[in-house]
Amino acid sequence: MKSPIFDYLVRYGYKKLVLCTNREVGLRGVIAIHSTDLGPATGGLRMWTYASEEEAIMDALRLARGMTYKYAAAGVNLGGGKAVIIGDPKTEKTEGLLRAMGRFIQSLGGEYQTGEDVGTTLDDMEVLYGETEHVVTLPEHCGGAGPIGPATAYGVQQAMKACCEEVYGSEPMKGRRVALQGLGAVGWPALEGLVKEGAKVVVADIDRAKVDRARRQLGVKAVPPGEIHAQPCDIFAPYALGGILNTRTIPELRCKIVCGSANNQLGEERHGDLLAKRGILYAPDYIANAGGTIYDTDRLQKGGFNRERAWRNVGRIRERMKEVITLARRERIPTYRAADRLAEERLAMARSLKLI
Ligand code: NAD
Repeated sequence: MKSPIFDYLVRYGYKKLVLCTNREVGLRGVIAIHSTDLGPATGGLRMWTYASEEEAIMDALRLARGMTYKYAAAGVNLGGGKAVIIGDPKTEKTEGLLRAMGRFIQSLGGEYQTGEDVGTTLDDMEVLYGETEHVVTLPEHCGGAGPIGPATAYGVQQAMKACCEEVYGSEPMKGRRVALQGLGAVGWPALEGLVKEGAKVVVADIDRAKVDRARRQLGVKAVPPGEIHAQPCDIFAPYALGGILNTRTIPELRCKIVCGSANNQLGEERHGDLLAKRGILYAPDYIANAGGTIYDTDRLQKGGFNRERAWRNVGRIRERMKEVITLARRERIPTYRAADRLAEERLAMARSLKLI
């Protein structure tokens, strides 16, 4: 019998896959729990128009495993999980749908905790919070950290500094040429931070209004979206889509460093090898972009959300990136493999503690 999903669950060691339905409100959702070795499985709730059920399930599974690695490498004591609702967030999202999903999350008794993701907002999280206490990303008036884009941007900037020290022997961003793709919730504060530090930034976004605003308010140059990755620069900084580093774009890169917030930047793992072969230092996405989740999960620590502690921990991404670079150099492996190895070591440690 062919069973691609069960085979995938076994191959990558998933703990649980829950299918969630409610006929009355039209819910079709998935909760994927990859690991609870380090703590409750945590990861956002995505709402998206998937082409098939299988695509939705695989997306939840892949993202859940990614969260396990992200938390493990970031030194956060949480496991990896992810949830998705199948549907168009612009036209099909209803209070009933969110509440029904909230009840499924509650029924897991804290094994999975949720948050904002593509297609869901902080307001949606407040609705879910009415049904389950297991919501991490919340507005400030509910005891949460509020918007996390600026913390993600700050974390990426720390990773950039570690990369600059490795490549150029100095951390300051003054005078560094950065090609920045995507001016959204993370890309915009990232641009502000870079301009403030004196970097020379060129930007691109498919949304013309955002590009015009960047030109007007921050005096940066812009290029068409299809050209940004090929700009001559020190750092190519992807803050938009996944899969931007691939067989087509990598030969066109004219940078020494790739460091940004976009998730799943490597089209495939082999593209990480290709970057290393070209002598380009790649900041593994889940190391560089962990700032937002480090920031908002601070509320789970002793004493509840503490802004000062949260920012301090986001700042540690710089040290984490240095560790990855050192390991990669010592073992002669690409940085994406070094990051996986750091995460796997921490997971193995957590498992061995459970045996005591
Ligand atoms: P967003 O939707 O707010 O912004 C994305 C921006 O990219 C938009 O302005 C969009 O117009 C632009 N864009 C889309 N396609 C483009 C293209 N082809 N060329 C140029 N620009 C394009 O998203 P965000 O929250 O800023 O997240 C950006 C990336 O970082 C995503 O990959 C996301 O998964 C990842 N990420 C975000 C966070 C966070 O805190 N929000 C945390 C970790 C990772």
